[in-house]
Amino acid sequence: MVFPLDLSLDPRPGEGYRSASQWARRVTENWAARELYCWGCQSPHLSAHATNTSVEDYRCPSCSRRVQVKAKNGPIGKTVANSGYEVKLQAIRKNVAPDYAFMSYSRTDLAVESLFVVPGSFLSQSVISPRTPLSATARRAGWVGSNIHLDRIPAFGKIVVIADGAARPKVQVRKDFSQIGFVGSFPQEQRGWLGDVLSCLEKLDLTSGSSFHLGDLYAFEDSLRRLHPTNNNIQPKIRQQLQVLERQGIVRRLRPGLFQKV
Ligand SMILES: [Zn+2]
Repeated sequence: MVFPLDLSLDPRPGEGYRSASQWARRVTENWAARELYCWGCQSPHLSAHATNTSVEDYRCPSCSRRVQVKAKNGPIGKTVANSGYEVKLQAIRKNVAPDYAFMSYSRTDLAVESLFVVPGSFLSQSVISPRTPLSATARRAGWVGSNIHLDRIPAFGKIVVIADGAARPKVQVRKDFSQIGFVGSFPQEQRGWLGDVLSCLEKLDLTSGSSFHLGDLYAFEDSLRRLHPTNNNIQPKIRQQLQVLERQGIVRRLRPGLFQKV
């Protein structure tokens, strides 16, 4: 018997908190501890992780997958403000970034409306940027937070768990997750390139089975150069990622320079 997720928020843990952010933290944490499951294994729960590091909230008791939950009242925007930039950059470089679960809820309706997961392997230098350092008068003067640019992450790297107030079957979520597991096997720099080229491919808005030319992707050369300013070999990098995507059965090469989206 597979039980669907209960998307209702229990307001009781938030009682007595006047600050909206404190209320949200208590109530959404309570929901996540109650309902969130592991997408990397069969574990029905994730446990809240007692930590004072800022990059991890939950851990799977079975496979040790680490997850940070970012919750927002209302829709998740294109850019999400997040913890310290340097810490995040180091985690990406060491290949230890946790998965991020982006959760949208309605405080009025006391319900979770959407939730998608960006696996840590899709977090690359291209998709984060530093925020303006805190002013000299701030308590943590000079501290630099980060932005996560969700619009730079391909849809492929955003696994939908809940959409429009409905939870997808766990078996489907876990299948989606295992299908992109290959990305995690690449070194950090190449994972970034794979995500970037996949994003470009998605911008072509192709339906399955339709074809595209290498030149269609070369058209993104300038925007890719902005993400990788020190790289002078953008076109070879694009071709290299296409080879990876071909091996994974995501695209098919029809003839030199002509590809098909599978
Ligand atoms: Zn697990």
